[in-house]
Formats: sequence, structure tokens, C-alpha cells
Amino acid sequence: MSFFETYEPVFDSFVLGNAPVKRLATGFDWVEGPVWFGDAGCLLFSDIPNDRILRWMPDGSVSTYRAPSNYANGHTRDRQGRLVSCEHGTRRVTRTGHDGRVTVLADAYDGRRLNSPNDVVVKSDGTIWFTDPHYGIMTDYEGFRAEQELPCNVYRIDPAHGTVEAVATDFNCPNGLAFSPDETRLYVADTGRMFRDDPTHIRAFDVADDGGLSGGEVFHVIEPGAADGFRCDTDGNLWSSAADGVHCIDPGGTLLGRILVPELVSNLCFGGRAKHRLFITATTSVYSVILNRRGCQSP
Ligand code: MG
Repeated sequence: MSFFETYEPVFDSFVLGNAPVKRLATGFDWVEGPVWFGDAGCLLFSDIPNDRILRWMPDGSVSTYRAPSNYANGHTRDRQGRLVSCEHGTRRVTRTGHDGRVTVLADAYDGRRLNSPNDVVVKSDGTIWFTDPHYGIMTDYEGFRAEQELPCNVYRIDPAHGTVEAVATDFNCPNGLAFSPDETRLYVADTGRMFRDDPTHIRAFDVADDGGLSGGEVFHVIEPGAADGFRCDTDGNLWSSAADGVHCIDPGGTLLGRILVPELVSNLCFGGRAKHRLFITATTSVYSVILNRRGCQSP
């Protein structure tokens, strides 16, 4: 059985035919937010319903990094290597300093509470971009059920000035997001409210030098499933979550191939010695596969 399905011949050169999709750890409820710490040699990821962030080490051990985690979801690292986290329970985005101190970067906009920050990326200028759908306040499963105070927007934090700005306000439910390698493009998923006929696509925005967004056309429709999370490789191919595994989409929006994963995939990140190992969070388990590609962004 192959772990890979090729739709365009170039995909064969992206994967290693004898490299397995391996299950690294299992027994969780809904894993999300993988982030690689090469300096510490570990992967952090969220187990959202169990209110914890876990740490996987290459020796196979899994330990608790933080519990309770305020129902943390997506993570990344800033330019100084600090952990940046989205928290459903406290409805905020935080930064964990090298000394362990947690700083709140955003918890409100326009005088109203954020919904439940979902996923986050950091641009090379240090600004922090995150999505704020309402998934974490819809029920008590992945946070605390609460009234929605704001539309489901995409925001940018400027930590130098302490400002939070809404940069995209026409989403149903924004979710995964990633910059292209040269940061001229921002991809943002819209995963809708999980109703039939809701969007399951990724939109592509042009990013101006001052950070302004334009465009925002539909770049690719994920089928089956939704683009809960994705990352770019160094050539700008997008590796995205889907219901049946990981889909590889080229910068023109063409599906090149898929990595088949036995569980519904939520998110992924590149890591390992050469940023060539894709770590995949999928429902109850964490998987990985080594590719003949490298991730473009450290986290
Ligand atoms: Mg997500």
C-alpha cells in the first residue's frame, strides 16, 4: 500500500517512496497546533478537549508541556523563537517568553472580546496574524460556550505598538493561515460553520509592503474536508489538512498529490533536522512523514 497519491508527476519528486507515514503518539481527543522547536528537539501540540499542550520527543516520549492550557489551539514561534499561542478558553493570543512568563498579545478588538483565536503566523517584520472564528465558544467541548461579540475576522497584532487591527472582515469562519515564502501572499482558509454548502476553501490575498491586503479570491477548494491548517514549502507549494490526509497544492492552485492519513487531519508543520519532516496532527494521533521538501517557515 502506498501512502501517496500522485495527480501531477512533479509530486513524485516531492515524496520518498520508501518513507512511511508513521503514527508517533495516540490516545488524544482532538490534536491541533503542531509547532517544532528544533533548539529543544521537540514538537509541541494541543490536545484541545483535554485542555493541555503536550510535548513529543524524538525518543518517542510524550509529556505535558502545559495543563491547563486554556484550551489552546494553534501555535507558532515569533522571530525570537518564543511560543505564540491561540487560546479558546481565555479568548486570547499569548506569547510565552524564554523565562516562561506569559504575555497577552490580544484579547479584544474595538472594546469587545475576541471569539476564540484559532491559528496564528508571524511575519518577518514581527507582526502576528491570527484568525478568530467562533468554534471555541460554540460549545463547552473545546472551551467555554459563550455569546459571540465580534464577527469572525482575521487580525494583525503589531507588538511594537501594541495594536490589533482587523485585516479581513468578509469571512464566514477563517481558520488556517500561512504566508507564501516571499510573504507577498497570505493564504487564509474559510471553513464555514460546518453546515452543508458552507465554504471549504482557501483564499489568497496580496500583501502590500505596508501589510495591507487586497484580492482574496478563492485559491483552492479542499475536498474532502477543510483546510483547518497548512504550511508552505520553500517553493511555495501549500501542504494542507483535509479529511483524507494532507493535500499538496502548487502556487497556481492545482492539487499535485496527497498523503493519505488514517484519521481526519487538523493541522501540520515542518520540522526535524532539515525541516523536511512533516508533523501531522489528526484527530486522536500525531503522525509524521519525511519528504523531499523543506518547510519555508521555522514554525
Ligand atoms: Mg484550525
